[in-house]
Amino acid sequence: MKETIDLFRQCQERDVEIYALEEQLREIPIKIKALEEQFEGEKTELARLEEHLKTTKVKLKEKEGDLKSKEEQIKKLEGQLMQIKTNKEYASLQGEIALLKKGCSGIEEEIIISLDEIAEIEQQIVEEKKRLDAKRTELESEKRSFEVIDKDNRAKINTMKKERDAFLAPLDKQLRTLYEKIVAKRQGNALAKIEGEQCSGCGMRIRPQTINEVRMCDQVVICDNCSRILYVE
Ligand SMILES: [Zn+2]
Repeated sequence: MKETIDLFRQCQERDVEIYALEEQLREIPIKIKALEEQFEGEKTELARLEEHLKTTKVKLKEKEGDLKSKEEQIKKLEGQLMQIKTNKEYASLQGEIALLKKGCSGIEEEIIISLDEIAEIEQQIVEEKKRLDAKRTELESEKRSFEVIDKDNRAKINTMKKERDAFLAPLDKQLRTLYEKIVAKRQGNALAKIEGEQCSGCGMRIRPQTINEVRMCDQVVICDNCSRILYVE
């Protein structure tokens, strides 16, 4: 029975590792998804800038339209100046033209400000796109390293599964089935050492009678509480 326990222990060494690697494999897609979501979140600033650019351009167009209609009005009134008969009417029309011209120069100033603003937003967009490109490269490289880990882990798991199967192969079918059942239930930890009269797997106190049975090594003894196969050094 001592040989059986030794084989179980060698098998368990692999199984613990296999379960840890499989856990890592399960986490990889979750981690990749989190990175992708984080990257999606990074895009909001660019969307905000693009929206800001759009509304600024719309406002600029309105101002340009406004300026054009005022200029046309001025042209029209200047044409009317020729046909004016009285000084009073002439002065009043000139006053109106002057007012429109003042309005025009106000709009022109606003247009200059808008154009500056647009140039500034466009520059911010260029920079933001550059930042996002760097982030995208970073994301791709992180994803690639996860792919490498994934491949490595699968290869390691494959090798260790072959090794553990080889350890179990010489054992009775009944013993193999028992081991497999506990391994599956206890995530790779099918065995537990008795340490200071306690099961190292669950911490439960083991009866002296049971400890004796384990020491005798005549049969496989399992913990009453956690069902792990017990052993002593
Ligand atoms: Zn136990």
